Amino acid sequence: MRSIILIAAPAAGKGTEAALLKQQYNIPHISTGDLLRKARNDGSERAKIIGEYQDKGMFVPFDIVIELLKERILQSDCENGYILDGFPRNIEQAEAYDKILDEIKKDIGVVVVLDIDKEVAKSRISGRKSCPKCGRVYNINNELLKPKKDGICDICGIELTHRTDDNPDTYEERYNSFIKNTSPLIDFYKKRGIVYYVDSNKDAKFTHEQVVKIIGE
Ligand code: AMP
Repeated sequence: MRSIILIAAPAAGKGTEAALLKQQYNIPHISTGDLLRKARNDGSERAKIIGEYQDKGMFVPFDIVIELLKERILQSDCENGYILDGFPRNIEQAEAYDKILDEIKKDIGVVVVLDIDKEVAKSRISGRKSCPKCGRVYNINNELLKPKKDGICDICGIELTHRTDDNPDTYEERYNSFIKNTSPLIDFYKKRGIVYYVDSNKDAKFTHEQVVKIIGE
């Protein structure tokens, strides 16, 4: 199994597609957004910094993100590959990721770009909720991402809340940041011939079928 980097605008369906890929290939889904949401609850100075950046929809400082990412991909469940969601988000992070892969002698795998119109993505944020304790993200409008019990986290059993950065104003900030910082990444990886485009404007099933065609059964 090869690792998969998912690149898409915020709320384009990365979380849903990652959940499906995790099921299909039995590899972990690593979302840096989730790793950071979890880390912001440990009461440390680092947690405070993460909270400040996340609430504004701004990139969390490089060193914090790299530290959390590296720690995660070194865990044993990542040996046969993993799905990266929300990382790398800019060229600086992509270069740091190349260095980490060199160190641990792993292949980068493939890059899948979920293509979506901005207005379609923006309309999807209203259903998103997350667990304030473990950071897991749900979507009440999506069968695949719904919690088992209405409004309650499957893992922690506590009430889900709306993400503090899921509002139309912050969405603009996050979308603009995607265009400015993350889009150039696609060109960065295109030069290596590992980029594949998928239409994510329709439903999750349609998106997933296209991704499986690229990666294989
Ligand atoms: P996401 O869950 O991917 O939408 O990310 C939510 C927020 O977490 C972002 O708006 C950033 O504040 C932060 N974040 C997630 N991934 C990264 C990353 N790779 N680099 C910097 N900040 C990140």
